[in-house]
Amino acid sequence: MVHQEKINELKSKLAGELIEPGDARYDAARKVYNAMIDKRPRLIARCADVSDVIESVNFARKNELIVSIRGGGHNAGGLGICDDGLVIDLSLIRFTHIDPENKTVRVGGGCTWRDVDHATHAFGLAVPTGIISTTGVGGLTLGGGLGHLTRHYGLTIDNLISADLVLADGRFVTANEWRNEDLFWAIRGGGGNFGVATSFMFKAHPVHTDYAGPMLWPLDKAQEVMKWYRQFIDAAPENITGFFAFLTVPPGPPFPESLHLKKMCAIVWCYTGPIEDAEQVFRPVRTQFPPALDLVGPIPHPALQGMFDPIYPPGLQWYWKADFVNELSDKAIALHVKHGSELPTMWSTMHLYPINGAAHRIGNNETAWSYRESKWAEVIVGVDPDPGNNNRIIEWARRYWEALHPYSAGGAYVNFMMEEGDERIRATYKENYERLAEVKAKYDPANFFRVNQNIKPEKVA
Ligand SMILES: Cc1cc2nc3c(=O)[nH]c(=O)nc-3n(C[C@H](O)[C@H](O)[C@H](O)COP(=O)(O)OP(=O)(O)OC[C@H]3O[C@@H](n4cnc5c(N)ncnc54)[C@H](O)[C@@H]3O)c2cc1C
Repeated sequence: MVHQEKINELKSKLAGELIEPGDARYDAARKVYNAMIDKRPRLIARCADVSDVIESVNFARKNELIVSIRGGGHNAGGLGICDDGLVIDLSLIRFTHIDPENKTVRVGGGCTWRDVDHATHAFGLAVPTGIISTTGVGGLTLGGGLGHLTRHYGLTIDNLISADLVLADGRFVTANEWRNEDLFWAIRGGGGNFGVATSFMFKAHPVHTDYAGPMLWPLDKAQEVMKWYRQFIDAAPENITGFFAFLTVPPGPPFPESLHLKKMCAIVWCYTGPIEDAEQVFRPVRTQFPPALDLVGPIPHPALQGMFDPIYPPGLQWYWKADFVNELSDKAIALHVKHGSELPTMWSTMHLYPINGAAHRIGNNETAWSYRESKWAEVIVGVDPDPGNNNRIIEWARRYWEALHPYSAGGAYVNFMMEEGDERIRATYKENYERLAEVKAKYDPANFFRVNQNIKPEKVA
């Protein structure tokens, strides 16, 4: 129990907002992207600046309140929010400062990727990020960051230059290659375990107009296309990324009526090389496997980044299962086609994101992200607007995952996991776990930040 007096005192100190149960804003403020998550925090601090974050961290520590950190609110398991504790909501800390000469961008800890793409595009630049523009910069970056530019420019963390954080004891620190190097190593993959990141500075790259979009094939071609894709993406130039998917065609434009609601397989391409060479680059796949629908063409980078936003608005039910994959054997491909053909609802899907190319040039121990040798991050998501279908989407995702897990590398990308227990977290960080636990013991010895894929503080003798 925290006394109302103390709560009022905190409220008076914040430049932002403090929202309590009973407040008209409470229900909207506690909602996260995944509508399957329904948590009721004691307090939600919408921090306006670093000073608000320091006040909130100190308040929670002194009053023994559990804390969660909310960036964009997209986390699969709803780890941006908590029951009975204090949510540090960063959605008001939203700024972008671009330095076009040095090709860097500094962004607020509560930005979404749409903010960043918008700011950088005017200068013909982009930061490698995920494939949905409403995702938060905070959670995606601290977990790694996979997307359309991974093969060309690496993971999002490979482009992180510096971050400012408020630690569990209320101190404000900078982490980069020169200051607090151990912390900088840990936050590149270790998630929100170490502090509240109030700003990030990224390297940006010359990306303006991509040659990109989805190619779709009927399911009876899925086996052949997947086998071709397996080989192609292994050897393809780094300026091509393409993720493989099973999906259901939405019933509306730009999709032709003849394909509406058909289950199909797809590759969603992004080519960032010279646009005049693009036709030639894609000629082999178009000749060998003429797609039933080919939406690949020139597109401004932010438009590609927002392409799937309308299909996946906030408020759907989501159930996630994931793994890293080193090899796609013929047996695994046959199982993918079997389960991919059984998508339970229109929104449900399976994606295989390539993580080779530039992402492979960094060693497993150079950052906390421990699966550099893997070739794909696989994610199976059961999705639907109707909670009445939750059993169907959950059972399908579990069945699919269980069939493919024996062919996986063991762990999974933390940002594609729900709350799956300690063993799974250890499998994900492998040999980096011990070092992460030591850094945690140094910066957060009481495990104050524990609403996350939690790394327990541990001093190794
Ligand atoms: C539709 C959809 C598509 C996605 N696509 C991709 C993709 O293409 N590539 C990819 O890599 N991932 C993708 N993701 C996964 C995404 O990276 C994670 O869900 C991530 O956790 C979202 O970050 P967030 O800030 O929005 O989340 P939140 O729910 O706000 O936060 C999640 C966790 O991140 C931590 N956190 C967030 N912000 C901060 C901060 N500023 N400081 C400290 N800790 C913080 C906290 O520990 C928190 O518990 C996708 C997710 C969704 C729902």
